[in-house]
Amino acid sequence: GDTLIVDASNGLVILNPDAAQLMEYRQFQARMAAVETTLGEIAHLPAMTLDGTPITVQANIEFPHEIPIALQKGATGIGLYRTEFLYLASEQAPSEEQQFAAICEASRMLEGRPLTIRTLDLGADKLARWAEADALGVVPEANPFLGARSIRLCLQNLPLFKTQLRAILRASTQANLRIMFPMISSVMELRQARMVLADVMEDLEEEATPFKHDIPVGIMVEVPSAALQATTLARDADFFSIGTNDLIQYTVAVDRGNERIASLYTGAHPAVLKLIKETVRAAQRARTDVSLCGEMGGDPLFLPVLLGMGLRSVSIAPPAIPEAKRIIRSVTLAQCQRMARKVLSLDTDREVTNFVTDQMQRLVPDAFHRRSIEP
Ligand code: PEP
Ligand code: MG
Repeated sequence: GDTLIVDASNGLVILNPDAAQLMEYRQFQARMAAVETTLGEIAHLPAMTLDGTPITVQANIEFPHEIPIALQKGATGIGLYRTEFLYLASEQAPSEEQQFAAICEASRMLEGRPLTIRTLDLGADKLARWAEADALGVVPEANPFLGARSIRLCLQNLPLFKTQLRAILRASTQANLRIMFPMISSVMELRQARMVLADVMEDLEEEATPFKHDIPVGIMVEVPSAALQATTLARDADFFSIGTNDLIQYTVAVDRGNERIASLYTGAHPAVLKLIKETVRAAQRARTDVSLCGEMGGDPLFLPVLLGMGLRSVSIAPPAIPEAKRIIRSVTLAQCQRMARKVLSLDTDREVTNFVTDQMQRLVPDAFHRRSIEP
């Protein structure tokens, strides 16, 4: 019989609010409903800056059933399919057929739109029960985020990795697919992963199973060593997707899931901004396609700075898409470039945050007015 207010924008649950709080939140709820209506109208307008530069806005998903919502929110494709969630939701490793079916289902719903499939990013915060139960030889580690996770886990468990690659390749004949390796931290790791992929292709050829031979193969740039070696990695990768969620935690040494140090976890850190800038520049020089699929890409404060650094493509959570489109449609590239130049000259994350907040409140006041209640 208690009354609860769940204020997700501030991460609060208010138990038995008083009358004044209740009224304040009812008004806030009404304002948010109005904001949602406006954003709903923006969802299907082109993502184009005021001066006419087109920006690709795709969606991040964990399950194919999210695709209709992503399209409804205005995504033009899926820039990150986190395939590990199929594993996390199962009691045991999903079979090749189950994975093939999931990819085919996703492709059907996308009707030819692009689908970037990230290979298994298991481990650390994403550990399946059956993996914990030793199916992969996973043992407790002192520093799991620095441990045998993600592509490392796959390279140490080739049957698991090959099963997934077979499923993706088999589905590639009837869909617009790209393969993306997560957590690449060295050139050798990428070459090893590509060798495994080549092995799987050879097996399929021998069986006369059709697949798309020239399927694009790219990497997540989410470890500082990869960002710093982007020029070299671009020789072996068809595309980059910058994963700021992990790039931030590895750059500033702050666990992304640790509440006690949450205030230190920020993409406004000048070192993070420099790594993003360098990665984009390296990709441009090598003519390698580059996108960004971390949460930062959907943050109204940082999206213009990212465009100013040269990014023309982001993949973000579906609910963030209409707001991102509103921001893109409200700025010129010249404004974004000026902001990017300025933030790259600042010394602290606080200066960066203050600067972008001030700029964006002026440029897109609608996006910042009355969006939240001060806690
Ligand atoms: C990232 O690290 O930025 C990313 C998009 O992947 P995930 O959040 O799944 O680690
Ligand atoms: Mg990541």
